[in-house]
Amino acid sequence: MGGREANVVLLDENGIRSDGRKVNETRKVTIKAGVLKNANGSAYIEFGGNKILAGVFGPRDVHPKHMSNPDTGILRVRYHMEPFSVGERKKPAPSRREIEISKVIKEALEPAVMLENFPRTAVDVFLEVLQADGGTRCAALDAASVALADAGIPMRDIVCACAAGKAGDALILDVNNEEDQAGQADMPIGYMPNLGKITLLQLDGVLTPDEYKKCIELGLEGCKQVYEIQKNALREKYFSSSDNN
Ligand code: ADP
Repeated sequence: MGGREANVVLLDENGIRSDGRKVNETRKVTIKAGVLKNANGSAYIEFGGNKILAGVFGPRDVHPKHMSNPDTGILRVRYHMEPFSVGERKKPAPSRREIEISKVIKEALEPAVMLENFPRTAVDVFLEVLQADGGTRCAALDAASVALADAGIPMRDIVCACAAGKAGDALILDVNNEEDQAGQADMPIGYMPNLGKITLLQLDGVLTPDEYKKCIELGLEGCKQVYEIQKNALREKYFSSSDNN
């Protein structure tokens, strides 16, 4: 972030981005629900060049027991990037970045999941990034939400996520890796459309107060588009005649 590769042209004179998109266009998003036989719920997402698997287990007993809560269930999230998911091999040990992303995804999901229905238990969400191309926390959050719904866990809403940001002095929807590295701002947003609640909001980079507001509005438009794709993935699994797994 912040023009580390200042000579990269992120926006041409016609307002077209380096990957051919318009400023208000997301990358192609496809989601499939119920892809893992051994998980209670699962989903696979392709969000542009990002490829991420989500597996949900539980509600189940908590080990060690003292971590359980007699009043409510707990949510545990592990976001993990495969060493081969990026160009330069990533060290397999959990990085500070993976710990941070696991935490923000957990906090973005908690308002949606009705954990109070399952005291003393845990719901575990495993997120495996197979290929990363900028915006993995949003894509992983999208997949996690579908996998939780696929597991039949009661939810107040599906959390949908998409980033907005700034590159080439323009506000852009769905920041890709190149725009993240060389652009001016990246703002991942998680949103529950039915409840009108934002559950994830981060900002890396600098925006004016006016750009900040516009960036949120733009990001929410992307979130709503992803929301439809998430619902369709669940419809496809539960209302299509072909059995997935
Ligand atoms: P997000 O993936 O949510 O945008 P970051 O902004 O931290 O999170 O990362 C942006 C992108 O940088 C990632 O999607 C990935 O493509 C790339 N990246 C992250 N970690 C590494 C790494 N260790 N090596 C190479 N590229 C990485």
